Amino acid sequence: MGQWRYVSECSVKALLWRWFRALSKLLGRGLVLCLKLIISHYPRQSCLIHVTYDANGKFDGLGAQAQRIIAIRGLASFLNVSYRQSQISQIAIHPLDGLSMPSDYTEYLGHVNNVFAFKDDCNCNSFEEKSIADFHYSHLIEILLRLLGGRSICFRITHPFEIVDLFPSIYEHVDLTSVTSKLEIFREDESKLDLVVHYRQGSGNPSANPLGRAIEHQRYQQTINKILLNSPQFRNRFSIMTDAPLGFLEFHPSKDQLNAWVGLPGFDGKTLQMYPLDSNSLFDQMDYEPSVISGGNPLVCLSILSSAKVLVMAKSSFSFVAALMNKEAIIYYPKDFWHPRVRSWVTY
Ligand SMILES: [Zn+2]
Repeated sequence: MGQWRYVSECSVKALLWRWFRALSKLLGRGLVLCLKLIISHYPRQSCLIHVTYDANGKFDGLGAQAQRIIAIRGLASFLNVSYRQSQISQIAIHPLDGLSMPSDYTEYLGHVNNVFAFKDDCNCNSFEEKSIADFHYSHLIEILLRLLGGRSICFRITHPFEIVDLFPSIYEHVDLTSVTSKLEIFREDESKLDLVVHYRQGSGNPSANPLGRAIEHQRYQQTINKILLNSPQFRNRFSIMTDAPLGFLEFHPSKDQLNAWVGLPGFDGKTLQMYPLDSNSLFDQMDYEPSVISGGNPLVCLSILSSAKVLVMAKSSFSFVAALMNKEAIIYYPKDFWHPRVRSWVTY
């Protein structure tokens, strides 16, 4: 009896929590929409309010930073304020990126800044600047006050997701044509694939961290089997791209890259442990075994993911950015990823 009461109490609590979250999301969306309407129709707003990416905000990988830049470009259009381009100053290097030489890294940084460049909306050059780690409602109110006072500002934003995650359609209004075409040079024609699966394993021992980034193998297998059943011709051009090495690997990030790995599984402050891809388990129930692409230049990987006919995403900003660029593809989106999906994507 006591056990049943416990179960029902738990489910009532869970239900109330779900309702509370749904209600607060609804209220949040309503509030943001009201503020957006006032801001976007205010005279001269675009030369008073500017937004840009804070390149010094949080040291991170290519996917995370590219997603932030695209989201901030979209946020500027959503609010009808001016977008300003910022240069990425550093990117976390993964052990399998093949960018071990300092000159490789400098060249890579140059390519990334060239690919993810959007035009400035205005030519203003004297405004106050303010760094914001998480851009949310209160900053929309600050924008309104600035507009009323006629004082110009540029917000340097690290994370715009408190607002953008409420309206994922913001991404759909960003013109990614030039990004996609600049990426094409990194891919040789023959590497254009029908079905590409992104398998993001993350660092450390995946079996010791089952709730980490990796998606259960069974979920991948069911999704891939379903795709191949409907389109058996995809078998010939089917690959898995992964950050997992093919054998156990210990990686020693350079001193100026250590910050990128702090707090991640398998990192002790100096050395990062990378466990190999468990292909026996991953391919066990798969009707057809794909070719495996482990690591490589991230721009090449991004180009391959963003040109496939079908893309099965990982819980990863890298996948997310590739999916945004790949307008023609059928996108399979993991239902438990923390950034909400764009409407046209299929969940799995
Ligand atoms: Zn301006």
